Amino acid sequence: MKIIVVGGGTSGILSALALGKEGHEVLVLEKNDKIGGLCRSETIDGYTVDIGVHAITMLNNGPLTRLLDKYSQYLPNFKPYGEYYIRTDQLHKIPVSMHEWMTTAVIPHKDKLLVTSKIIDLMTVGFDKEASVCDIVKDLNLSEPTLEFFDTFSYFLSGEGMDKTPLWRLFTGAGYIPEDDIIPFIYNDLRINPLRKSISKKFDSGRLWNMVDDGLLKSIKNKSKKYITKFMGEARFGSQGYPMGGVQSICNCVCNSMINTTLKTNEEVLKITQEENTYYVYTKNDIYKADVIIYSAPAVTIPNVVKNVEEVNSYNEKFKNIKFSESTTIWVGDEENYFPYIGSEVWVDYPCWATTTSNYDPWLAPKGKHLMGFSFVNSKEEDAIISIENKLNINLDKVDMLHIQKTIPEHASCAIDQFFVYPKVKNNFYVVGTDSDPRSMGVTRASYSVEMMLSEFKNTYQNNLPPKL
Ligand SMILES: Cc1cc2nc3c(=O)[nH]c(=O)nc-3n(C[C@H](O)[C@H](O)[C@H](O)COP(=O)(O)OP(=O)(O)OC[C@H]3O[C@@H](n4cnc5c(N)ncnc54)[C@H](O)[C@@H]3O)c2cc1C
Repeated sequence: MKIIVVGGGTSGILSALALGKEGHEVLVLEKNDKIGGLCRSETIDGYTVDIGVHAITMLNNGPLTRLLDKYSQYLPNFKPYGEYYIRTDQLHKIPVSMHEWMTTAVIPHKDKLLVTSKIIDLMTVGFDKEASVCDIVKDLNLSEPTLEFFDTFSYFLSGEGMDKTPLWRLFTGAGYIPEDDIIPFIYNDLRINPLRKSISKKFDSGRLWNMVDDGLLKSIKNKSKKYITKFMGEARFGSQGYPMGGVQSICNCVCNSMINTTLKTNEEVLKITQEENTYYVYTKNDIYKADVIIYSAPAVTIPNVVKNVEEVNSYNEKFKNIKFSESTTIWVGDEENYFPYIGSEVWVDYPCWATTTSNYDPWLAPKGKHLMGFSFVNSKEEDAIISIENKLNINLDKVDMLHIQKTIPEHASCAIDQFFVYPKVKNNFYVVGTDSDPRSMGVTRASYSVEMMLSEFKNTYQNNLPPKL
Protein backbone atom coordinates (compact mmCIF):
# COMPACT_ATOMS: atom_id res chain seq x y z
CA MET A 1 0.00 0.00 0.00
CA LYS A 2 1.30 3.50 -0.81
CA ILE A 3 1.11 5.78 2.19
CA ILE A 4 1.87 9.49 2.37
CA VAL A 5 2.65 10.96 5.78
CA VAL A 6 2.08 14.72 5.84
CA GLY A 7 4.61 16.27 8.25
CA GLY A 8 7.78 14.81 9.70
CA GLY A 9 7.45 15.58 13.43
CA THR A 10 7.39 12.94 16.18
CA SER A 11 4.03 11.51 15.17
CA GLY A 12 4.85 11.56 11.46
CA ILE A 13 8.19 9.77 11.73
CA LEU A 14 6.89 7.21 14.26
CA SER A 15 3.99 6.46 11.91
CA ALA A 16 6.37 6.12 8.96
CA LEU A 17 8.72 3.87 10.95
CA ALA A 18 5.92 1.51 11.97
CA LEU A 19 4.10 1.39 8.63
CA GLY A 20 7.36 0.96 6.69
CA LYS A 21 8.30 -1.94 8.96
CA GLU A 22 4.85 -3.43 8.38
CA GLY A 23 5.75 -3.61 4.69
CA HIS A 24 4.10 -0.50 3.23
CA GLU A 25 5.69 1.99 0.88
CA VAL A 26 5.86 5.24 2.82
CA LEU A 27 6.64 8.79 1.70
CA VAL A 28 7.03 11.53 4.33
CA LEU A 29 6.55 15.09 3.08
CA GLU A 30 7.92 17.72 5.46
CA LYS A 31 7.59 21.43 4.82
CA ASN A 32 10.74 22.46 6.72
CA ASP A 33 14.29 21.82 5.58
CA LYS A 34 14.77 19.34 8.45
CA ILE A 35 12.85 16.34 9.71
CA GLY A 36 11.75 16.22 13.38
CA GLY A 37 9.25 19.04 13.91
CA LEU A 38 9.47 20.05 17.57
CA CYS A 39 11.51 16.98 18.45
CA ARG A 40 14.72 18.51 17.12
CA SER A 41 17.88 20.14 18.33
CA GLU A 42 20.03 22.76 16.65
CA THR A 43 23.56 24.06 17.16
CA ILE A 44 23.84 27.69 18.25
CA ASP A 45 27.34 29.06 18.96
CA GLY A 46 28.61 25.62 19.96
CA TYR A 47 25.59 24.77 22.16
CA THR A 48 23.06 22.04 21.24
CA VAL A 49 19.65 23.53 22.03
CA ASP A 50 16.38 21.63 21.72
CA ILE A 51 13.20 23.15 20.35
CA GLY A 52 11.84 23.91 23.83
CA VAL A 53 12.75 22.47 27.21
CA HIS A 54 11.89 18.76 27.23
CA ALA A 55 11.32 15.89 29.67
CA ILE A 56 10.10 12.69 28.07
CA THR A 57 7.38 11.07 30.18
CA MET A 58 6.19 7.48 30.80
CA LEU A 59 9.45 5.84 29.84
CA ASN A 60 8.90 2.68 31.86
CA ASN A 61 5.78 1.57 30.03
CA GLY A 62 4.54 4.35 27.79
CA PRO A 63 3.68 4.53 24.10
CA LEU A 64 7.05 5.88 22.94
CA THR A 65 8.90 3.02 24.62
CA ARG A 66 6.44 0.48 23.23
CA LEU A 67 6.75 1.82 19.67
CA LEU A 68 10.55 2.06 19.81
CA ASP A 69 10.87 -1.41 21.33
CA LYS A 70 8.70 -2.86 18.60
CA TYR A 71 9.92 -1.02 15.51
CA SER A 72 13.19 0.81 16.12
CA GLN A 73 16.62 -0.68 15.58
CA TYR A 74 18.22 2.14 17.59
CA LEU A 75 17.11 3.37 21.01
CA PRO A 76 17.85 6.74 22.61
CA ASN A 77 19.80 6.69 25.84
CA PHE A 78 17.67 8.40 28.48
CA LYS A 79 19.04 9.83 31.72
CA PRO A 80 16.58 9.90 34.66
CA TYR A 81 15.04 13.36 34.82
CA GLY A 82 15.29 13.91 38.57
CA GLU A 83 12.88 15.89 40.70
CA TYR A 84 10.54 18.75 39.86
CA TYR A 85 11.04 21.68 42.20
CA ILE A 86 9.22 24.88 42.81
CA ARG A 87 11.25 28.02 43.51
CA THR A 88 10.02 30.44 46.13
CA ASP A 89 12.71 31.93 48.34
CA GLN A 90 14.28 28.48 48.17
CA LEU A 91 13.71 25.21 46.27
CA HIS A 92 10.92 22.84 47.34
CA LYS A 93 9.86 19.52 45.82
CA ILE A 94 6.51 19.86 44.00
CA PRO A 95 3.97 18.04 46.17
CA VAL A 96 2.17 15.14 44.48
CA SER A 97 1.31 12.41 46.99
CA MET A 98 -0.78 13.07 50.09
CA HIS A 99 2.25 12.86 52.32
CA GLU A 100 4.05 15.47 50.20
CA TRP A 101 1.02 17.76 50.24
CA MET A 102 0.80 17.53 54.02
CA THR A 103 4.48 18.23 54.58
CA THR A 104 5.28 20.78 51.86
CA ALA A 105 6.47 24.21 52.85
CA VAL A 106 5.13 25.68 49.59
CA ILE A 107 1.60 26.34 50.86
CA PRO A 108 0.22 27.39 54.25
CA HIS A 109 -0.89 24.70 56.74
CA LYS A 110 -4.60 25.53 56.46
CA ASP A 111 -4.44 25.06 52.67
CA LYS A 112 -2.71 21.69 53.00
CA LEU A 113 -5.66 20.30 54.91
CA LEU A 114 -8.20 21.85 52.56
CA VAL A 115 -6.44 20.58 49.44
CA THR A 116 -5.81 17.02 50.60
CA SER A 117 -9.32 16.55 51.97
CA LYS A 118 -10.77 17.97 48.74
CA ILE A 119 -8.76 15.55 46.61
CA ILE A 120 -9.97 12.60 48.70
CA ASP A 121 -13.51 13.96 48.50
CA LEU A 122 -13.38 14.25 44.70
CA MET A 123 -12.06 10.75 44.32
CA THR A 124 -14.80 9.42 46.54
CA VAL A 125 -17.82 11.16 45.04
CA GLY A 126 -16.42 11.67 41.52
CA PHE A 127 -16.51 14.74 39.32
CA ASP A 128 -17.66 15.86 35.89
CA LYS A 129 -15.60 15.74 32.76
CA GLU A 130 -16.15 19.50 32.40
CA ALA A 131 -15.06 20.37 35.95
CA SER A 132 -12.09 22.73 35.86
CA VAL A 133 -9.30 23.03 38.39
CA CYS A 134 -10.65 26.49 39.16
CA ASP A 135 -14.20 25.19 39.81
CA ILE A 136 -12.79 23.05 42.54
CA VAL A 137 -10.31 25.36 44.21
CA LYS A 138 -12.35 28.57 44.07
CA ASP A 139 -14.65 27.66 46.96
CA LEU A 140 -11.90 26.51 49.26
CA ASN A 141 -10.80 29.98 50.28
CA LEU A 142 -7.19 29.19 49.55
CA SER A 143 -4.38 31.68 49.96
CA GLU A 144 -2.91 33.55 46.99
CA PRO A 145 0.31 31.44 46.80
CA THR A 146 -1.72 28.23 46.67
CA LEU A 147 -3.96 29.57 43.90
CA GLU A 148 -0.87 30.67 41.96
CA PHE A 149 0.56 27.20 42.40
CA PHE A 150 -2.54 25.58 40.86
CA ASP A 151 -2.63 28.11 38.05
CA THR A 152 1.03 27.55 37.13
CA PHE A 153 0.75 23.80 37.38
CA SER A 154 -2.33 23.96 35.10
CA TYR A 155 -0.37 25.87 32.44
CA PHE A 156 2.28 23.21 32.29
CA LEU A 157 -0.19 20.33 32.21
CA SER A 158 -2.66 21.69 29.70
CA GLY A 159 -1.28 24.86 28.10
CA GLU A 160 -4.08 26.83 29.79
CA GLY A 161 -4.71 28.47 33.16
CA MET A 162 -6.72 26.73 35.90
CA ASP A 163 -10.03 28.15 34.65
CA LYS A 164 -9.67 26.17 31.41
CA THR A 165 -7.77 23.14 32.68
CA PRO A 166 -9.94 20.09 33.27
CA LEU A 167 -9.62 18.45 36.65
CA TRP A 168 -9.03 15.09 34.99
CA ARG A 169 -5.88 16.54 33.40
CA LEU A 170 -4.54 17.52 36.82
CA PHE A 171 -5.35 14.10 38.24
CA THR A 172 -3.90 12.12 35.33
CA GLY A 173 -0.84 14.42 35.22
CA ALA A 174 -0.18 13.84 38.91
CA GLY A 175 -0.60 10.10 38.44
CA TYR A 176 -3.74 9.64 40.60
CA ILE A 177 -5.80 8.40 37.65
CA PRO A 178 -4.25 6.27 34.86
CA GLU A 179 -4.14 8.09 31.51
CA ASP A 180 -6.02 5.29 29.71
CA ASP A 181 -9.02 5.63 32.02
CA ILE A 182 -9.82 9.00 30.55
CA ILE A 183 -9.92 8.16 26.88
CA PRO A 184 -13.49 6.90 26.39
CA PHE A 185 -15.00 10.07 27.83
CA ILE A 186 -13.14 12.21 25.40
CA TYR A 187 -13.82 10.35 22.20
CA ASN A 188 -17.26 9.08 23.04
CA ASP A 189 -18.59 12.53 23.78
CA LEU A 190 -17.19 13.83 20.54
CA ARG A 191 -18.63 10.86 18.70
CA ILE A 192 -16.19 11.35 15.87
CA ASN A 193 -15.63 7.67 15.44
CA PRO A 194 -16.40 5.54 18.44
CA LEU A 195 -14.89 2.38 17.04
CA ARG A 196 -15.09 0.35 20.15
CA LYS A 197 -13.65 -2.75 18.56
CA SER A 198 -10.20 -1.39 17.90
CA ILE A 199 -9.77 0.33 21.22
CA SER A 200 -10.82 -2.86 22.90
CA LYS A 201 -7.82 -4.61 21.36
CA LYS A 202 -5.51 -2.70 23.59
CA PHE A 203 -7.77 -1.99 26.52
CA ASP A 204 -10.39 -3.97 28.31
CA SER A 205 -13.40 -2.91 26.28
CA GLY A 206 -16.12 -4.09 28.62
CA ARG A 207 -14.72 -2.18 31.51
CA LEU A 208 -13.92 0.94 29.51
CA TRP A 209 -17.16 1.25 27.62
CA ASN A 210 -19.20 0.65 30.73
CA MET A 211 -17.35 3.62 32.13
CA VAL A 212 -18.43 5.65 29.13
CA ASP A 213 -22.04 4.76 29.63
CA ASP A 214 -21.88 5.49 33.33
CA GLY A 215 -20.08 8.78 32.87
CA LEU A 216 -16.96 9.96 34.55
CA LEU A 217 -18.60 10.69 37.84
CA LYS A 218 -19.85 7.21 38.53
CA SER A 219 -16.81 5.42 37.24
CA ILE A 220 -14.52 7.44 39.43
CA LYS A 221 -16.78 6.53 42.30
CA ASN A 222 -16.55 2.86 41.48
CA LYS A 223 -12.81 3.05 41.38
CA SER A 224 -12.33 5.52 44.18
CA LYS A 225 -10.48 3.07 46.38
CA LYS A 226 -7.86 2.48 43.70
CA TYR A 227 -7.40 6.17 42.96
CA ILE A 228 -7.28 7.21 46.60
CA THR A 229 -4.67 4.53 47.23
CA LYS A 230 -2.50 6.07 44.54
CA PHE A 231 -2.87 9.53 46.03
CA MET A 232 -2.06 8.26 49.50
CA GLY A 233 0.77 6.07 48.36
CA GLU A 234 3.14 6.13 45.48
CA ALA A 235 1.64 8.85 43.22
CA ARG A 236 4.41 10.52 41.19
CA PHE A 237 4.85 12.00 37.77
CA GLY A 238 6.03 8.61 36.55
CA SER A 239 9.32 7.68 34.97
CA GLN A 240 10.76 10.57 32.99
CA GLY A 241 14.04 11.08 31.22
CA TYR A 242 16.14 13.33 29.07
CA PRO A 243 17.76 11.84 25.94
CA MET A 244 21.55 12.08 25.71
CA GLY A 245 22.47 14.22 22.71
CA GLY A 246 19.24 16.23 23.03
CA VAL A 247 15.76 15.44 21.72
CA GLN A 248 17.26 15.19 18.24
CA SER A 249 18.56 11.77 19.24
CA ILE A 250 14.98 10.43 19.43
CA CYS A 251 14.38 11.68 15.91
CA ASN A 252 17.70 10.22 14.71
CA CYS A 253 17.00 6.78 16.20
CA VAL A 254 13.60 6.66 14.50
CA CYS A 255 14.80 7.92 11.10
CA ASN A 256 17.84 5.63 11.04
CA SER A 257 15.64 2.62 11.74
CA MET A 258 13.22 3.24 8.87
CA ILE A 259 12.80 0.91 5.92
CA ASN A 260 10.56 1.24 2.83
CA THR A 261 10.38 4.96 3.60
CA THR A 262 11.43 8.07 1.70
CA LEU A 263 11.81 11.35 3.60
CA LYS A 264 11.42 14.55 1.59
CA THR A 265 12.08 17.95 3.14
CA ASN A 266 11.12 21.38 1.76
CA GLU A 267 7.91 19.75 0.55
CA GLU A 268 5.00 21.65 2.04
CA VAL A 269 1.73 19.91 1.28
CA LEU A 270 -0.55 22.54 -0.19
CA LYS A 271 -3.53 20.52 -1.31
CA ILE A 272 -4.93 17.00 -1.04
CA THR A 273 -7.74 15.76 -3.25
CA GLN A 274 -9.26 12.34 -3.79
CA GLU A 275 -10.41 10.63 -6.97
CA GLU A 276 -11.99 7.24 -6.45
CA ASN A 277 -9.59 5.46 -4.09
CA THR A 278 -6.50 7.49 -4.88
CA TYR A 279 -5.30 10.60 -3.08
CA TYR A 280 -3.43 13.32 -4.99
CA VAL A 281 -1.05 15.28 -2.81
CA TYR A 282 0.17 18.60 -4.18
CA THR A 283 3.34 20.42 -3.20
CA LYS A 284 4.91 23.28 -5.12
CA ASN A 285 7.36 20.78 -6.67
CA ASP A 286 5.22 17.78 -7.51
CA ILE A 287 1.97 15.84 -7.31
CA TYR A 288 2.19 12.54 -5.41
CA LYS A 289 -0.30 9.65 -5.39
CA ALA A 290 -1.25 7.60 -2.32
CA ASP A 291 -3.77 5.00 -1.16
CA VAL A 292 -3.69 6.23 2.44
CA ILE A 293 -2.96 9.59 4.08
CA ILE A 294 -1.53 9.94 7.57
CA TYR A 295 -1.94 13.62 8.46
CA SER A 296 0.56 14.61 11.16
CA ALA A 297 0.61 18.36 10.50
CA PRO A 298 -1.73 20.35 12.81
CA ALA A 299 -5.35 19.25 12.19
CA VAL A 300 -6.38 22.91 12.35
CA THR A 301 -4.87 23.19 8.83
CA ILE A 302 -6.95 20.36 7.33
CA PRO A 303 -9.78 22.61 6.06
CA ASN A 304 -7.24 24.59 4.01
CA VAL A 305 -5.38 21.59 2.66
CA VAL A 306 -7.87 18.76 2.19
CA LYS A 307 -10.39 19.42 -0.56
CA ASN A 308 -13.41 17.42 -1.62
CA VAL A 309 -12.91 14.55 0.82
CA GLU A 310 -16.39 14.53 2.25
CA GLU A 311 -15.91 12.50 5.44
CA VAL A 312 -12.84 14.52 6.36
CA ASN A 313 -14.33 17.90 5.46
CA SER A 314 -17.45 17.18 7.51
CA TYR A 315 -15.29 17.95 10.59
CA ASN A 316 -13.93 21.22 9.19
CA GLU A 317 -15.71 23.46 11.71
CA LYS A 318 -14.34 21.37 14.58
CA PHE A 319 -10.83 21.31 13.11
CA LYS A 320 -10.87 25.09 12.70
CA ASN A 321 -11.78 25.55 16.36
CA ILE A 322 -8.88 23.57 17.80
CA LYS A 323 -7.08 25.84 20.27
CA PHE A 324 -3.41 25.80 21.15
CA SER A 325 -1.08 27.96 23.19
CA GLU A 326 2.29 29.48 22.39
CA SER A 327 5.52 29.23 24.29
CA THR A 328 8.67 31.29 24.48
CA THR A 329 11.83 29.41 25.28
CA ILE A 330 14.98 31.28 26.19
CA TRP A 331 18.24 29.34 26.00
CA VAL A 332 21.18 30.70 27.95
CA GLY A 333 24.75 29.44 27.69
CA ASP A 334 27.11 30.59 30.39
CA GLU A 335 29.99 29.72 32.70
CA GLU A 336 27.71 29.85 35.71
CA ASN A 337 25.25 27.00 36.21
CA TYR A 338 22.08 28.45 37.75
CA PHE A 339 20.50 25.00 38.30
CA PRO A 340 23.36 22.78 39.49
CA TYR A 341 21.22 19.70 40.17
CA ILE A 342 19.53 16.90 38.20
CA GLY A 343 15.92 17.98 37.74
CA SER A 344 14.05 21.13 36.87
CA GLU A 345 12.17 23.91 38.55
CA VAL A 346 8.96 25.81 38.10
CA TRP A 347 8.48 29.48 38.92
CA VAL A 348 5.08 30.44 40.13
CA ASP A 349 4.89 34.22 40.14
CA TYR A 350 5.69 34.27 36.43
CA PRO A 351 5.04 30.74 35.10
CA CYS A 352 8.32 29.34 33.82
CA TRP A 353 9.90 25.89 33.64
CA ALA A 354 13.69 25.88 33.81
CA THR A 355 16.50 23.35 33.73
CA THR A 356 20.15 22.93 32.83
CA THR A 357 20.17 20.37 30.01
CA SER A 358 23.96 20.10 30.09
CA ASN A 359 23.62 18.54 33.56
CA TYR A 360 22.25 15.46 31.76
CA ASP A 361 24.73 15.59 28.90
CA PRO A 362 27.77 17.90 29.28
CA TRP A 363 28.43 17.65 25.51
CA LEU A 364 25.45 19.92 24.86
CA ALA A 365 27.61 22.89 25.94
CA PRO A 366 31.23 23.84 25.15
CA LYS A 367 33.77 22.72 27.74
CA GLY A 368 33.43 24.63 31.02
CA LYS A 369 30.04 26.11 30.00
CA HIS A 370 26.45 25.21 30.86
CA LEU A 371 23.24 25.25 28.84
CA MET A 372 20.06 26.41 30.57
CA GLY A 373 16.57 26.48 29.07
CA PHE A 374 13.61 28.55 30.30
CA SER A 375 10.18 27.80 28.78
CA PHE A 376 7.28 30.20 29.34
CA VAL A 377 3.67 29.58 28.34
CA ASN A 378 1.78 32.43 26.63
CA SER A 379 4.29 35.07 27.70
CA LYS A 380 5.79 38.00 25.85
CA GLU A 381 9.50 37.75 25.10
CA GLU A 382 10.34 40.99 26.97
CA ASP A 383 8.47 39.83 30.09
CA ALA A 384 10.22 36.48 29.99
CA ILE A 385 13.63 38.12 29.80
CA ILE A 386 12.88 40.48 32.69
CA SER A 387 11.58 37.59 34.74
CA ILE A 388 14.81 35.59 34.30
CA GLU A 389 16.99 38.61 35.01
CA ASN A 390 15.10 39.46 38.19
CA LYS A 391 14.80 35.93 39.49
CA LEU A 392 18.43 34.96 38.92
CA ASN A 393 19.97 38.40 39.20
CA ILE A 394 21.77 38.13 35.85
CA ASN A 395 22.18 40.37 32.83
CA LEU A 396 21.19 38.43 29.71
CA ASP A 397 23.12 40.89 27.50
CA LYS A 398 26.31 39.58 29.04
CA VAL A 399 25.87 35.80 28.85
CA ASP A 400 27.92 33.64 26.47
CA MET A 401 24.91 32.56 24.33
CA LEU A 402 21.30 33.73 24.16
CA HIS A 403 18.79 32.11 21.84
CA ILE A 404 15.04 32.76 21.78
CA GLN A 405 12.41 30.44 20.30
CA LYS A 406 8.70 31.06 19.73
CA THR A 407 6.87 27.78 19.32
CA ILE A 408 3.56 25.97 19.66
CA PRO A 409 4.36 22.99 21.92
CA GLU A 410 1.26 20.97 21.08
CA HIS A 411 -1.25 21.14 18.23
CA ALA A 412 -4.08 21.29 20.79
CA SER A 413 -4.10 22.49 24.38
CA CYS A 414 -5.56 19.95 26.74
CA ALA A 415 -8.33 22.36 27.74
CA ILE A 416 -11.98 22.00 28.69
CA ASP A 417 -14.15 21.76 25.55
CA GLN A 418 -11.15 21.01 23.38
CA PHE A 419 -11.83 18.93 20.29
CA PHE A 420 -9.51 15.92 19.96
CA VAL A 421 -9.60 14.29 16.55
CA TYR A 422 -10.06 10.56 16.63
CA PRO A 423 -7.03 9.17 14.69
CA LYS A 424 -9.17 7.29 12.19
CA VAL A 425 -11.24 9.83 10.28
CA LYS A 426 -12.03 7.42 7.44
CA ASN A 427 -10.69 4.08 6.24
CA ASN A 428 -7.84 5.64 4.30
CA PHE A 429 -7.36 8.96 6.13
CA TYR A 430 -5.81 9.16 9.59
CA VAL A 431 -4.75 12.05 11.82
CA VAL A 432 -1.88 11.70 14.29
CA GLY A 433 -0.16 14.17 16.61
CA THR A 434 -0.90 16.04 19.78
CA ASP A 435 -4.36 17.06 18.57
CA SER A 436 -5.52 13.47 18.19
CA ASP A 437 -4.99 12.13 21.71
CA PRO A 438 -5.72 13.72 25.09
CA ARG A 439 -3.36 11.53 27.11
CA SER A 440 -0.12 12.74 28.67
CA MET A 441 1.93 15.45 26.95
CA GLY A 442 4.14 16.28 23.98
CA VAL A 443 6.17 13.41 22.59
CA THR A 444 4.24 10.87 24.69
CA ARG A 445 0.90 12.24 23.53
CA ALA A 446 2.03 12.18 19.90
CA SER A 447 3.16 8.55 20.42
CA TYR A 448 -0.20 7.59 21.95
CA SER A 449 -1.95 8.88 18.83
CA VAL A 450 0.34 6.78 16.63
CA GLU A 451 -0.46 3.65 18.64
CA MET A 452 -4.17 4.35 18.26
CA MET A 453 -3.79 5.02 14.53
CA LEU A 454 -1.86 1.76 14.06
CA SER A 455 -4.50 -0.18 15.91
CA GLU A 456 -7.24 1.27 13.68
CA PHE A 457 -5.16 0.89 10.54
CA LYS A 458 -4.52 -2.78 11.26
CA ASN A 459 -8.18 -3.38 11.99
CA THR A 460 -9.13 -1.79 8.69
CA TYR A 461 -6.57 -3.54 6.55
CA GLN A 462 -6.04 -6.77 8.47
CA ASN A 463 -7.42 -8.89 5.66
CA ASN A 464 -5.21 -7.51 2.94
CA LEU A 465 -1.97 -6.57 4.67
CA PRO A 466 1.23 -7.29 2.81
CA PRO A 467 3.50 -9.80 4.57
CA LYS A 468 5.43 -8.47 7.56
CA LEU A 469 9.17 -8.08 7.11
C1 LIG B 1 8.71 24.80 24.62
C2 LIG B 1 8.36 23.36 24.40
C3 LIG B 1 8.48 22.48 25.45
C4 LIG B 1 8.14 21.15 25.26
N1 LIG B 1 8.29 20.28 26.30
C5 LIG B 1 8.03 18.98 26.12
C6 LIG B 1 8.27 18.03 27.15
O1 LIG B 1 8.75 18.36 28.21
N2 LIG B 1 7.96 16.74 26.93
C7 LIG B 1 7.44 16.33 25.75
O2 LIG B 1 7.20 15.13 25.59
N3 LIG B 1 7.19 17.19 24.77
C8 LIG B 1 7.47 18.51 24.91
N4 LIG B 1 7.25 19.39 23.91
C9 LIG B 1 6.37 19.03 22.79
C10 LIG B 1 6.82 17.98 21.82
O3 LIG B 1 8.08 18.25 21.28
C11 LIG B 1 5.77 17.99 20.71
O4 LIG B 1 4.48 18.00 21.24
C12 LIG B 1 5.85 16.79 19.81
O5 LIG B 1 7.16 16.63 19.34
C13 LIG B 1 4.85 17.06 18.68
O6 LIG B 1 4.94 16.13 17.68
P1 LIG B 1 3.88 16.19 16.50
O7 LIG B 1 4.26 15.16 15.53
O8 LIG B 1 2.51 16.12 17.06
O9 LIG B 1 3.99 17.65 15.88
P2 LIG B 1 5.18 18.54 15.22
O10 LIG B 1 6.49 18.26 15.87
O11 LIG B 1 4.64 19.90 15.26
O12 LIG B 1 5.23 17.99 13.75
C14 LIG B 1 4.40 18.44 12.71
C15 LIG B 1 5.26 18.53 11.46
O13 LIG B 1 4.40 18.83 10.35
C16 LIG B 1 5.08 19.74 9.52
N5 LIG B 1 4.08 20.40 8.68
C17 LIG B 1 3.14 21.30 9.07
N6 LIG B 1 2.38 21.63 8.02
C18 LIG B 1 2.84 20.92 6.95
C19 LIG B 1 2.47 20.84 5.58
N7 LIG B 1 1.44 21.53 5.10
N8 LIG B 1 3.18 20.03 4.76
C20 LIG B 1 4.22 19.30 5.23
N9 LIG B 1 4.61 19.36 6.52
C21 LIG B 1 3.93 20.15 7.37
C22 LIG B 1 5.80 20.67 10.50
O14 LIG B 1 6.83 21.38 9.88
C23 LIG B 1 6.28 19.65 11.54
O15 LIG B 1 7.56 19.14 11.22
C24 LIG B 1 7.64 20.71 24.03
C25 LIG B 1 7.57 21.59 22.95
C26 LIG B 1 7.94 22.90 23.13
C27 LIG B 1 7.87 23.84 21.98
